[in-house]
Amino acid sequence: MGKPTGFLEYPREETIERKPLQRLKDWKEYTKKQPEDMLKRQGARCMDCGTPFCHIGIEINGAAAGCPINNLIPEWNDLVYRGKWKEALDRLMKTNNFPEFTGRVCPAPCEGSCTVELAGPAVTIKNIEKAIIDKGFENGWIQPRIPERRTGKKVAIVGSGPAGLAAADQLNQAGHSVTVYERADKAGGLLTYGIPNMKLDKDVVERRIKLLRQEGIDFILNTEVGKDVTSEELKIQYDSIILCTGAQKQRDLTLQGREADGVHFAMNYLTQATKRLLNIEVSEPLIDAEGKNVIVIGGGDTGADCVATALRQKCKSVVQFGKHPKLPDVRSDANMWPEQPNIFTMDYAYEEATAQYGHDPREYSVQTKKIVSDHNGRLKELHTIQMKRTSDDAGNMVFEEIPGSEKIWPADLVFIAIGFEGTELPVLKEFGVEVKHNKVDAEHGDYRTNVDGVFAAGDSRRGQSLIVWAIQEGRDCARQVDLSLMGSTILP
Ligand SMILES: Cc1cc2nc3c(=O)[nH]c(=O)nc-3n(C[C@H](O)[C@H](O)[C@H](O)COP(=O)(O)OP(=O)(O)OC[C@H]3O[C@@H](n4cnc5c(N)ncnc54)[C@H](O)[C@@H]3O)c2cc1C
Ligand code: SF4
Repeated sequence: MGKPTGFLEYPREETIERKPLQRLKDWKEYTKKQPEDMLKRQGARCMDCGTPFCHIGIEINGAAAGCPINNLIPEWNDLVYRGKWKEALDRLMKTNNFPEFTGRVCPAPCEGSCTVELAGPAVTIKNIEKAIIDKGFENGWIQPRIPERRTGKKVAIVGSGPAGLAAADQLNQAGHSVTVYERADKAGGLLTYGIPNMKLDKDVVERRIKLLRQEGIDFILNTEVGKDVTSEELKIQYDSIILCTGAQKQRDLTLQGREADGVHFAMNYLTQATKRLLNIEVSEPLIDAEGKNVIVIGGGDTGADCVATALRQKCKSVVQFGKHPKLPDVRSDANMWPEQPNIFTMDYAYEEATAQYGHDPREYSVQTKKIVSDHNGRLKELHTIQMKRTSDDAGNMVFEEIPGSEKIWPADLVFIAIGFEGTELPVLKEFGVEVKHNKVDAEHGDYRTNVDGVFAAGDSRRGQSLIVWAIQEGRDCARQVDLSLMGSTILP
């Protein structure tokens, strides 16, 4: 273990970030490189407890508890404490194909399950993970691993998000010839077009794609399966196919005035902002927040990313409406360890808005009643009412309007960020794949669809989730595909 008394001697040291007003001037990552002595102290806080809940990776009440890819956290915490970075990297790469992504943007359910959290704040596991992989790249320890033998089997993967990339990496290392089809102009799925650059630098994504290409994986971009190439063509060319098409079908508002000019889906805005940053031509009309009153409808992380993006485009004001009340500062009795804590936090976007305008942009328990536009059809204002959350006789959550709490908000731009309905259906229909609740109907751990030789993994099977779950499914599905192709498997 790290240092037997480390958790008693050292406090938790939070991620060091760039100053909010400073970082609003650019699109670079908002976190700084963490000093090595600080990371070693954090490694020393790990208790190497008998049952390390941090890596159990199960779901409790619909949320992850512990690391879904079962990262060997106590082992690399100890190695970092002892300065053995290369060995720590070897351990980390055993379970995680892309720690440079999770180390930056994973919500770290591992930390919510850390045993130290029972008596105080958890070990900063995510920061240690990021430092190990960043050091691996800096020191040239990460080199292309070209498979020594090829099996002659061919696998097509549809979609290049973290699920598709993890499956491709595993299957390529097992010796199969892997081709990834992606309809976008760049690979990466939501890692590229979704998560903003200030959370995950696109050079970091591009570096990994380059490495995967060097290792032998073929990427075919700007190609939509089901349209530019048919499912029949793929079935003829490949021995197996994995659908990793994500769950990007956005939930819409059915509200009076929804058609107003100036109301956009959050994802269209975020994708366009990244394209503009990367100097990629944008064919759709420009969405720019400069000098505008911006309202984000939806209290989740996608909404927070819209807030941070609008701030960097120098909006005049920004507000984010959430349907639910403010979260408690400490865990409730219904949200006990080792579950992921469901508590109030200050995400990067909220720190930035507070620094810029002197107050948190979040408005809680708000219901939008209607959208009003001017005589040109141009968005003018939103009408809202405050809601009270209670429960009915059967214990179900219900929301009631509070009479007299109506409010009018001036608005020039509105972003709809109220979640995702599920995966896009046309491509699944083309394959003849069965769908349940807007997701591919395939079991976790098995991944086979009803169509012979066609598997599914990631958000397309699970619904909109997390990068770490997408990696878990991509890895696990690759194992099943290898097994079906070879009769036995060498993959973990
Ligand atoms: C704005 C936003 C921010 C997020 N932030 C975080 C975060 O901070 N941390 C976190 O852990 N998770 C975050 N998530 C969730 C996370 O990004 C997803 O859970 C994850 O990317 C899912 O991976 P995936 O590979 O299953 O699908 P995706 O990443 O959605 O990739 C699917 C890919 O399939 C392609 N595709 C679809 N259909 C076809 C077709 N017919 N032919 C060819 N290609 C096709 C798509 O273009 C896309 O590139 C965020 C999500 C959003 C929307
Ligand atoms: S992948 Fe996420 S849950 Fe797993 S160790 Fe890293 S930060 Fe924690």
